[in-house]
Amino acid sequence: MQYKGRIIFEGYALADILVYEEVNKSRQKNFDQGGDEYERFVYARTSALKSFDELYQSALKTVGEEKAALFQTYRLMAEDLDFEDLVRSNINEGQTAEDAITNASKQIADSFAVLDDEYMKQRAIDVVEVGKNLVNVLLGNNELINLNKPTILICNDLAASFLMKLNRTFLKGLVLVNGNENSHVAIFARTLELPTICGVSNFNLSSAYTGRKGVVDAIKGRLIIDPSQDELDNYNRLAQDYLNENGLLKQYVGKPTVTKDGVKLKIYTNIASALEIENVKKNDGEGIGLFRSEFIYLGSKNYPSEDFQFNYYREVLEEMGKKEVVIRTIDIGADKKVPYFKLAKEDNPALGLRSIRICRKQPEVFYTQLRALYRASVYGNLSIMIPMIVSIVEVNFYKDMIKKVKEDLKRDNIPFNDKVKVGIMIETPAAAIMSDDLAKHVDFFSIGTNDLFQYTLACDRLNPALNDVFNKKHYAVMRLIKMTVDNAHKAGITCSMCGELARDPEMLPFFAAIHIDELSCSCAYVLKTRKALAEIDTQKVDIKQYLDPK
Ligand code: PEP
Ligand code: MG
Repeated sequence: MQYKGRIIFEGYALADILVYEEVNKSRQKNFDQGGDEYERFVYARTSALKSFDELYQSALKTVGEEKAALFQTYRLMAEDLDFEDLVRSNINEGQTAEDAITNASKQIADSFAVLDDEYMKQRAIDVVEVGKNLVNVLLGNNELINLNKPTILICNDLAASFLMKLNRTFLKGLVLVNGNENSHVAIFARTLELPTICGVSNFNLSSAYTGRKGVVDAIKGRLIIDPSQDELDNYNRLAQDYLNENGLLKQYVGKPTVTKDGVKLKIYTNIASALEIENVKKNDGEGIGLFRSEFIYLGSKNYPSEDFQFNYYREVLEEMGKKEVVIRTIDIGADKKVPYFKLAKEDNPALGLRSIRICRKQPEVFYTQLRALYRASVYGNLSIMIPMIVSIVEVNFYKDMIKKVKEDLKRDNIPFNDKVKVGIMIETPAAAIMSDDLAKHVDFFSIGTNDLFQYTLACDRLNPALNDVFNKKHYAVMRLIKMTVDNAHKAGITCSMCGELARDPEMLPFFAAIHIDELSCSCAYVLKTRKALAEIDTQKVDIKQYLDPK
């Protein structure tokens, strides 16, 4: 049985499955079971505080001080007197300790969540997690996961604190059936380099899977249950090759990216969160070629404020120092729906209101983002990239908007870098076909092959039924890519690529031979791609074969 999911951290895991279902049902009030509910609360708190301290110490060693501080925050929240008062008054109203804790943490979370402050909104999530930790003590869940053999853990979602409690030696892979890439747990999974997938379609969580064999293929984004012996042998081989390759790749850290015959390129990284910067550095990314800023919006309950965004972008830029950071403006729409944008339901969302099209309808949202970006621009090497462009009208729209942002910042005496490069994504056939014209108006191109493929071949990129029907290396797309690179170079601008194809070993000879300036891929592929490029002699590449493979 195979299920498809999205990758949080790459790798393979082969092990027995353990399904973890968080126990939600609250204990019925039963005096024989618990005696004094307030005493039970105190017991739960004491035990949770001890475990937060242990988690803090272990996180210090594994994920560093900044992230470990989360557990100190938890400690403060659990000890908070207002929290205790709320629990006590809930108990006095007749609630069990479990309900009293859950309700008290929700009451506090609600009071945080209504504030128009992203920091407090995050704290609202944290306080609920603290409540769950205390309840887990009472329900005995903390003893539930006591790993002592190699395990793939499958759950709907998981609290970050729970993940940190697990024995990493035995935890080989993680599947968050309903989880998402931006949660705390996803961030911790990446930092722990734990092969993890999320958003698994058509999978019903059931404890019936516990004890059965499983494979997490976090290279292709698959969960396999009850693999055949052949599949197991194959995955064992793939996992070993993967480990060997990764070990050998370390020698490419700090080396320039250059082909055998001396063609120089750069390998940048695609990220969706500031917390991935550690991985960018570890894998020696030469810059960030695609920062998917829409994930800031996807992770918020309301439009993120200018200040929140400014601080966020500033942190990314400061972390990256002199290295270029290309921040893509919001690419909301299609499969990335954000409720507070209140977009109407569409029959064909991929062909509907998306990205720059939304920005034209809601210019104040775009203005806020651009203003935050320009304010942050003095803290590093920022470039801005606009997605889904199909016309010069759209280019003129964003240019006018940037002009206004700059005028307003000047008027307000706020410093910004006037030389920030502004480029566009080439991810529609229209943009590729008119790239000669577009090149005269912009500072750089970045080819988004994921969408360029979908729109050129009229092939929904999310439809798994089409996976083996269409070839992502179709020569129609290759022709558009070459045309775009040539037009960029004729106009004296650079052309990079940030779609998934940018790291495809089969296509690298072609991309190097047509002189793409940068390839941008997930952090885990930087060194692999650098190694592959070092083995390519572009003089020997038959470009025609990619454009006309008859
Ligand atoms: C692309 O379309 O290739 C791209 C990089 O953007 P996204 O995958 O975020 O649409
Ligand atoms: Mg795209």
